[in-house]
This record gives sequence, C-alpha cells and structure tokens, in this order.
Amino acid sequence: MNKVKCLIIGSGPAGYTAAIYASRANLQPVLIEGPQLGGQLTTTTEVENFPGYPDGVEPFTMMEDMRRQAERFGTQFVSGIVTKVDFSVSPKKVIVEDEQEYEADAVIIATGASAKYLGIESERTYRGRGVSACATCDGFFYRKKTVAVVGGGDTACEEANYLAGLCEKVYMIVRKPYLRASEIMQQRVLNNPKIEVLFEHNTIQLTGEGKVQGADLVYRKGEPDEAMKHIDIDGFFLAIGHHPNTDLFKDYVNRDAEGYIIVEGDSPRTNVPGVFAAGDCADPHYRQAIVAAGSGAKAAIEADKYIKSL
Ligand code: NDP
Repeated sequence: MNKVKCLIIGSGPAGYTAAIYASRANLQPVLIEGPQLGGQLTTTTEVENFPGYPDGVEPFTMMEDMRRQAERFGTQFVSGIVTKVDFSVSPKKVIVEDEQEYEADAVIIATGASAKYLGIESERTYRGRGVSACATCDGFFYRKKTVAVVGGGDTACEEANYLAGLCEKVYMIVRKPYLRASEIMQQRVLNNPKIEVLFEHNTIQLTGEGKVQGADLVYRKGEPDEAMKHIDIDGFFLAIGHHPNTDLFKDYVNRDAEGYIIVEGDSPRTNVPGVFAAGDCADPHYRQAIVAAGSGAKAAIEADKYIKSL
C-alpha cells in the first residue's frame, strides 16, 4: 500500500501540468502514466499553436519537456494502467495493473479522450502521414491542398469549414443521405463553395506512396446503384466522434450521456469531494492541449485547497 497526498491519472498536457502545479505546491504527486505517453497530442505531427514555441514543436518533445518539468519539482511517475478505483472511501483507492494499491487524499483524473477511427487498415498505415483526427491541430499543413473530412455531425461540419478557410477544396464523406449537424452548421457547409458533400459514401481504403494521396469510396453500398468513386486528396480527417476514457470511474463520478465527466461550472470539481477532472475527459468542446493544460493547473490548485482543508 502506497499512501500519497495527490494522485494524477493520465500523461497528456492536463496530467503533466497538474503534476507541475501539484509538485510545486509540495503535494509530492504520483502520476500514473498509461501506454500512450503524451496522450492524444502525440498522434499529431507538429504542434504550432501552443504558446511559447514560435517555431512549432514536435509533440513528443513538448510532452517530454512537460514531463521533465514535473519531475524537476518531485513528481514521481508510475508506469501502468489503472485497473480499479474506489472513490467511496477516504482516502481514495486506486489500483494499478491489479496489484499496486495507492491511497490518495486527492485524485486528479486526466485520462483524455480517444478519437474514433473507421477501423480500416490503411488508416493505421497513414496515421501522421495524411490521416488526422484534429483539423485545428493539423489543418495548417494542408494549406492550398485538397482534403476530406469524414462525418456528418457538428464536429465534421466545423472542421470542414475550418479547413475550407485553408485548403483549395474539402470533400465531406457522409454515410447517410443527410447531415446530422445542427441546422446552422449544415447551412455553413452547404453554402461554402469550397466544400463538396459526398452523401451516402463510405471509405474503403486510402491510397498513396508513403502518404495519403487518394481515397477509394463506395456509394450506396449494397444498393442496385452501388458505385465506386476515387478522390485525389492530400489529407484525410476523421470527425466521427470521440470517446472519453472515463469508463473506469462510472460507478462514482457523474458523467454525461457521452461519458464526459461532469464538473461544477468551469471548475475541475466532480461530484466526489477530492476527485477532480482535467483535460479532454471532461471537455467535449475545445479538445486543445493549451485548454487541457490550463484545466490541469486548476485541478492541482483545487486539490491543494482540498487537501489543506482535511
Ligand atoms: P456526432 O456523434 O454528433 O456525429 C458523428 C458523425 O460521424 C455522424 O454524422 C455519424 O454518422 C458519423 N459516423 C460515426 N461513425 C461513422 C463511421 N464508422 N463511418 C462514417 N461515419 C460515421 O459527433 P460530433 O463529434 O460531431 O459531435 C459530438 C457532440 O458535440 C454533439 O452533441 C455535437 O452537437 C457537439 N458539438 C457541438 C459543436 C458546436 O455546437 N459548435 C461543435 C462540435 C461538436 P451518422 O449520422 O450516420 O450516425
């Protein structure tokens, strides 16, 4: 049994920033690092929108910098997956890899969210080489090029509009004969001359020499008028939803219908005193490293206040 004041779960910008603040507040935090060090950010190629890096930064470098900064002030890192928690007791119990047990006065959940992918083989082949799940992060690399966005929801429409501001042409690949997005978002897409919506199309595979150069689509699969279509593209953006990594906490922490942790107002406080949420696991809207980092700082400040009140 390991007794700690502050335990942080997650190794993305939210978790590492929480660790920097918590360690500087002398909470001697322990941070549990999962299998994807650096979190979702490391699925992108270069970070150009995080203040302080005027020339951009390679995501692994940025996350390693954050990690070293937390380490410098005494954060202890534990590698492994959290397999069980018990937030009904105080201190809270967190079990790593079914064997290491931690008791913590405060817990900061910073487990992030995972973008959903279609599940086709070539998506993996070209990940980081034309395949992206974040237009705000990677759109800039496709200036004056042709890209495709998959999905028909608000995210897809927002991303298609954003990309249309940068790119020569944007295809939207929508599996239904209509968009699911809100009316205003649909109108923006449909009225944008740079966006061509391909309704009732599904992606079969991506093609290209070492990077994405095209996509093979099928129109109305299984119907009498089924037809194949090839589009030439430089980038393929997934916008078919995200899944917050919060299932482990569902018995204790209130979540919304999508699984995002519900926090009190713009604070990181959950319904369980002493349990805080930071970053994308509690943020269905912004999904930006800088926002996650900011919420990590807030969570550590709140954890400090909570621990001092005990
Ligand atoms: P949604 O679940 O709303 O939409 C997902 C889209 O992806 C749907 O069009 C869906 O198709 C499609 N899709 C899912 N799986 C596949 C697949 N395997 N192949 C092809 N297409 C697929 O997710 P969003 O991320 O767009 O939105 C999540 C929530 O966030 C929503 O409530 C949304 O309103 C909100 N949001 C609000 C914004 C705003 O107000 N500015 C901005 C962004 C999000 P189908 O329709 O056929 O199911």
